[in-house]
Order: sequence, then structure tokens, then C-alpha cells
Amino acid sequence: MVTSEKEAYMDQYTIRITILYDNTAYISDLNAKWGFSCLVERVGSPVALFDTGPTGPELMENMKILGVDPDCIEIVFISHPHWDHTDGLEEFLKHNDHATLVIPPAFNFSSIHKIIIASAPAIICEGIYTTGELYNFEQSMVVDSPEGMVVITGCSHPGIPKILKISEDFGRIHALIGGFHGFSELDLLKDISLVCPAHCTKLKDEILTRFPDKCIEGGAGRVIEI
Ligand SMILES: [Zn+2]
Ligand SMILES: [Zn+2]
Repeated sequence: MVTSEKEAYMDQYTIRITILYDNTAYISDLNAKWGFSCLVERVGSPVALFDTGPTGPELMENMKILGVDPDCIEIVFISHPHWDHTDGLEEFLKHNDHATLVIPPAFNFSSIHKIIIASAPAIICEGIYTTGELYNFEQSMVVDSPEGMVVITGCSHPGIPKILKISEDFGRIHALIGGFHGFSELDLLKDISLVCPAHCTKLKDEILTRFPDKCIEGGAGRVIEI
């Protein structure tokens, strides 16, 4: 992203989430297969990459098409050790020698990069939090916005109810974005203002139909500004 564009949107939005990789493509030129990755830009926080999709070359190509410079990323947050979220990591790290990795204990990964092991709910940096690893497997990211907390999930293997409950400790939840897996307790979305069911969400159509006013479709290239 070029600086002038960045400055322009920063005047209007606190958080900008760009889906870099997803099962589907929102912008047709982008690579899209089973997997998930998004870029999280928040005013006052380091730029964060959430998950890395299933293949490095395809992630890097999508970043290039979207104008995302890998070198601007300061935090790489890995939700859980499934290939469709981690297999782009090694290739990405060839293009970035300084990002801090935030990984759940279940992800056995060694690197020359600084690594933070997210075993419990914690503040990672100004405005960006982790639920910590839930059920010994997966962490979700919680981002602070003036509207409330924005929760970003990988596959939600621990279950959306558990993830929301832990995330609420950071504050009222405004948005939920990412893979919801087999989530079916749709009533829990009633009080959330913005929902983007992406990646592995099995009931994507049901969620979009039930909450048409606050749901948006995901897909690689989708940008969500809050
Ligand atoms: Zn997944
Ligand atoms: Zn998974």
C-alpha cells in the first residue's frame, strides 16, 4: 500500500482489515483455495499479519497484487497449526527479517525471529490482544476499536461460543471476522454489529441470510474498515 493511500484512510478508519487469502476470491485476480490470511492495520498499532494461508508463493502474489509490502509487517499472528493457516509462513519470512511471531504453544516452530508463545489471554501490543491458546490448540486475535472489540478467528476449532466469551473480557464485541467452522449457535451473533463469515464457516449462507444487514461476505481482496 502506498503511503498517500494509507494516510487518506487513516483519517477515516481506526482499523482496516484486508483479507489476503481465503477459500474464495472477492477480487478475481487473486489466488483463492482452502485457507485464510488477513492483514490487520490499526491506527497506533504495529501492522499485523493474521495467518499465512496454505502456500507461500500464492500469499506473496496476493500481497503484491493488493500492494501490501511484506516488510511493513511487524507482527505475525498464527492462530493454530493447520497447514491452511501456516504453510505460507516460511516463504513470508524470506521477505521479512524483523517481525515478531505470536504463536500458540501447539504450533511447534523455531525461527531466528522473536517468538511470543500465547498460552493465555494477553496484550500483544497497543490495541491488539490474544485470547491465548484455547483447548490446547488455537488462539484468536482481538483488536480494540472505538466501536468495540474486533475478533478475528482462524478456524474456530475451540468453538465460537468459547472464543466470544474469552474475548468479551477485553470489552464489548463489535465485529467477528474469519473462519467459524461448524458454529451453529447463531443467536450469539445478535448483539454483534458486523459479521464476516469466511474460510471454513459451514453455515455461511445461513448466517448471511439470517443477518443480512450486518453480514458481509469474505473472500481474498475484501477490505473491512472500522
Ligand atoms: Zn482453516
Ligand atoms: Zn484448522
